[in-house]
Amino acid sequence: MASKILDSFLSENLKDLKDKGLYNVIDPLQGANGPIIKIAGKELINLSSNNYLGLATNQRMINASIEATKKYGVGAGAVRTINGTLKIHVELEEKLAAFKGTEAAIAFQSGFNCNMGAISAVMDQNDAILSDELNHASIIDGCRLSKAKIIRYKHSDMDDLRLKAKQAKESGQYKKIMVITDGVFSMDGDIAKLPEIIEIAQEFDLITYVDDAHGSGVLGKGAGTVKHFGLSDKVDFQIGTLSKAIGVVGGYVAGKKDLIDWLKVRARPFLFSTSLTPGAAAACIEAINILTESTELYEKLWENGNYLKKGLKDLGFNIGESETPITPCIIGEEEKTQIFSKRLNEEGVYAKAIVFPTVPRGTGRVRNMPSAGHSKEMLNKALAIYEKVGKEMGII
Ligand code: PMP
Repeated sequence: MASKILDSFLSENLKDLKDKGLYNVIDPLQGANGPIIKIAGKELINLSSNNYLGLATNQRMINASIEATKKYGVGAGAVRTINGTLKIHVELEEKLAAFKGTEAAIAFQSGFNCNMGAISAVMDQNDAILSDELNHASIIDGCRLSKAKIIRYKHSDMDDLRLKAKQAKESGQYKKIMVITDGVFSMDGDIAKLPEIIEIAQEFDLITYVDDAHGSGVLGKGAGTVKHFGLSDKVDFQIGTLSKAIGVVGGYVAGKKDLIDWLKVRARPFLFSTSLTPGAAAACIEAINILTESTELYEKLWENGNYLKKGLKDLGFNIGESETPITPCIIGEEEKTQIFSKRLNEEGVYAKAIVFPTVPRGTGRVRNMPSAGHSKEMLNKALAIYEKVGKEMGII
């Protein structure tokens, strides 16, 4: 018999979310997640995916994925440490290390898994982690899982980080102290102050961990935030995802050989969850080939990002302080933000509203993620729709 307690828990809480307008309705796409998407029979200009370089639909990668699937099958068959390590997993890790400029790399099934596995493989209850208050949910969960003391510092506030690092070090309570930051913060598009973070880390002997999910493919000619600042030899953990700019699925850590060897024996998602599918691994390898052969897509992404930013700013929208192609359009009040996003959608632009609790109350925004796959025509059309809806709602 089904649990009555569970039944009432679910029905009460689902009703509560729906009453508050917080229940997230998921719209399935009727085709690929490209610059134009189709939802419920309607075509929309897509400004909401993380497919920064447009690689999710890249033909070379599709072909590589098909060939690998034919050769190896659809599944890897086991976890990496039993017999689920295929030659293409090893090749992918070698490519990632070369791309990131590190001695070695380890691949995971997702960026989320990577943060769950990597942090807790090294940190424990005797340690402390200094974490930027805007770090991604998977970092927060990875930190919790490690049982280390979590010390949050104010977003990109280097005085606060220095003070907290000093207090943690001088307390003598912790065996190891780590500092963790996103490379690029996805809600505002700002870049972590890595040179200062590294300086503080060196002063207080901190382990450094950068999750570059939104910086890889986007900064440092594609190699990411760490490379952008020329700090490849100073960051211990370079984390990334294979699901955003790379366009597929998966995650990785790049770093020193000993670190990667340790993760291979201690990171639990690597040990206890089946490895990446052969098709995904092959597509990722091909993506790295594409990015190392040419910076064309990278340049197109920036050109499109700058174009959309300038267009929205010229129209009078508040686009915040983004330093990357991520372009928030800050509306403020939550309900108004939701209505704005809905009106954009009705007119032909898919740009999701992001409101509290994902961002602070009163800073609701519609977040735009232009990609290398958008044409100027698509962006002009999107800008015209922004202008129409913005004027209609008295925002500009
Ligand atoms: N880290 C950050 C900073 C992210 O934004 C995300 C994805 N939203 C992840 C990790 C998780 O990556 P994945 O989608 O590959 O699990």
